[in-house]
Amino acid sequence: MKYIFGPVASRRFGMSLGIDLSPDKKRCNFDCIYCELSPAKPVNNYDNPPKVDDIFNEVKDAVQKYQFDVLTVTSNGEPTLYPYLDELIGKLKTLNKKLLILSNSSTIMKKEIQNSLKKLDIVKLSLDAVSPNIFKKIDRPAKGIDIEKIIKGMIEFRKIYKGELIIEILVVKGINDKDEEFKKLNKVLADIKPDRVDISTIDRPPAYNVEGVSIEKLFELAENIKNQNIFIPTRDKINYKIENLTKEELIETLKKRPFSESDVKNILDEHTLKIFNDLIKENMLEEIWVGGVKFYKAYV
Ligand code: SF4
Repeated sequence: MKYIFGPVASRRFGMSLGIDLSPDKKRCNFDCIYCELSPAKPVNNYDNPPKVDDIFNEVKDAVQKYQFDVLTVTSNGEPTLYPYLDELIGKLKTLNKKLLILSNSSTIMKKEIQNSLKKLDIVKLSLDAVSPNIFKKIDRPAKGIDIEKIIKGMIEFRKIYKGELIIEILVVKGINDKDEEFKKLNKVLADIKPDRVDISTIDRPPAYNVEGVSIEKLFELAENIKNQNIFIPTRDKINYKIENLTKEELIETLKKRPFSESDVKNILDEHTLKIFNDLIKENMLEEIWVGGVKFYKAYV
């Protein structure tokens, strides 16, 4: 199969069957320093696009063969550059599967892209920085792409999009790992109003000579982001702990910063975990699912 990969188990979205819209080479309008693909000059156009039917026929066969939670439209690059995206989405909708796209956000200000993406169940958009100089340093966009227009596009898109909007921030050491930048992100996220904010770091060899930060650092940076469902994918035991909260303090925290299942498992000390479990028994917490991740929130 040329366009299909997986299914793969993803911590962020469950079992995902991937559709790669650019299998032969990287086609991206960014050249992110952390990209897991080789560095490449950013391009704004997709040359020699494959036929919609060639992609769709493969997807149709794979859908009958595999069990999965979500069909993920992605690319060796940026999937919204594919010129027949809208037609492809129309066909994918006939399969009655949950549809997700992973986009770098660069085209979200375009009305035609907003109208295509609003047909999907989950849209993941990247937002690594708000400050123009940091955005340029980390995402290395093609000429003419500017972060103010992207943010405006995200806010507009949220107004017309009824599905689950997830914003992803990828943190690179020494570039966007300052509280100051996260405070700016917090302000902008309050306007965008996503359903979930994923904060992650580099975990595969990057295109350029840069490093990720520790998981503990991600939790510290996340303290700047208020009133959002924050998901920080964690694998191992970590040294960041929420300790010795009283029942009232835990309830207040859970009103502003709902915990994912992985937070409950990894960051609550024994004392706070016991109080958390009591709150569950007393029905004081609401369970919310966003894009395949469960959160616990205190009723406001
Ligand atoms: S947007 Fe994605 S594919 Fe494009 S350079 Fe960045 S990480 Fe790589």
